[in-house]
Amino acid sequence: MPVAESFAVSEPAGWGLLRQARPVLWRNPAWQAQVPAAQLAGQAQGLDAMEAAQRQLQRFAPLLAALFPELQASEGRIRSPLLAVPRMQQALGLAPAPGADLGTLLLKADHRLPVAGSVKARGAVLEVLSIVQAVAERHGLWTPGQDPQVLLLPAARAVLARYTVAVGSTGNLGLAIGTLAAALGFQACVHMSAEAREWKKQYLRARGVTVIEHATDYPQALAHGRAKAAVQPHTHFVDNERSLALFLGYSTAAFELQAQLQALGRSVDAQHPLMVYLPCGVGGVPAGIAFGLRQLLGPHVHCWVGEPVQSPCVAQALLAPPLPGQAPPSVYALGLNNTTEADGLCVPQASDLAVETMRPVLAGGFTVADERLFMDLCRLDASEGLQIEPSAAAGFSGPQWLTSPAGVDWRLAHGLEDLSGALHVVWTTGGALVPPALYGQWRARGEALLAQDTAAP
Ligand SMILES: *Cc1c(COP(=O)(O)O)cnc(C)c1O
Repeated sequence: MPVAESFAVSEPAGWGLLRQARPVLWRNPAWQAQVPAAQLAGQAQGLDAMEAAQRQLQRFAPLLAALFPELQASEGRIRSPLLAVPRMQQALGLAPAPGADLGTLLLKADHRLPVAGSVKARGAVLEVLSIVQAVAERHGLWTPGQDPQVLLLPAARAVLARYTVAVGSTGNLGLAIGTLAAALGFQACVHMSAEAREWKKQYLRARGVTVIEHATDYPQALAHGRAKAAVQPHTHFVDNERSLALFLGYSTAAFELQAQLQALGRSVDAQHPLMVYLPCGVGGVPAGIAFGLRQLLGPHVHCWVGEPVQSPCVAQALLAPPLPGQAPPSVYALGLNNTTEADGLCVPQASDLAVETMRPVLAGGFTVADERLFMDLCRLDASEGLQIEPSAAAGFSGPQWLTSPAGVDWRLAHGLEDLSGALHVVWTTGGALVPPALYGQWRARGEALLAQDTAAP
């Protein structure tokens, strides 16, 4: 597989490659070895806040277990496995060879997360449970320490039904919030931007959720939903770009990964660095997960974000110097068009809070052409029998970038010439609920691209 171009931040040519929608690797100029607390909701948020989020999820777990049969085995907790994927490692051309041993590839299988079918699940659960708790306490339906299953009683549900939970989404956040809110007894209203898939709208409507379709891109759909919710009584608008509960919910994935690594007997240190590759849209999910991992596991966790070549809004925001008080730039200003089949990553402008949280945290990122997403989607199915959506494939080109010139420079700067003890965790962020017929089309497309690829000289 040819190594594509890559650049260090200091190289102006890098901006040219981004503008040309070419796959690139970029390094974060503001990375810090010690991660400060995140400034969110007017307060410094660190490990304490993550632990409080964990307790909240635990406290309400019995309620979720009662509502969702698929959560009975995990007693109401939403978790995903960490999978060994040796055949995929081989399919990517990353099997250890003499003089070229990058370490071991693993997969954090959030595409299998129950209830939501995507990485949004942990944040969505914490967000909706926080709303439930606020309403329940206001109306004296539940007090801390009480079994949360009292909220399943008809009288409690009648009160919850007077409230609306609204959200703006390119698809998966709406799917997660809408499903959870409706199951808990709220009215639910999802504002979908133009790229949202038809099946997601149908899925939500079948669960009693109101879906409002917008012909505009995500920031505009979000603005509309937010404005509408502001003038409606008893309506809570879930703000993907500002919500503390979403951020902390996402960050709890770090506790899960930490426990899974411990179970494998793997430590994280200078000889055993952990590389994590996260598909990235508006930046909220990767900010939460990367922040959580850096808080728990320290400076030897290196988090990278993968974005579509036409939607690299987080790269654009982090490569530019911070401009306090100003909105992050838009990819349209780079001459890009924000067109991609990766609907979960189809975002022209990053969340400012996510960008500021990621600034000291991320090692860097890379961009991915849609063709590569379909090829990796197909490779994963052919090698390991796992089915993901295109957005969820954005991490797979990450490890190979560490062998590119800029990747090697980065390794030298961090004393990581030898990666043979490294773990590379590719985060697969969605796919479980995709209709099989649609998945079949994606896979066929990947197959055709792979056939062309090997036929090329
Ligand atoms: C939402 C989403 C992401 C990225 O999350 P952001 O917060 O938008 O950066 C990645 N993959 C999938 C499948 C998603 O739904």
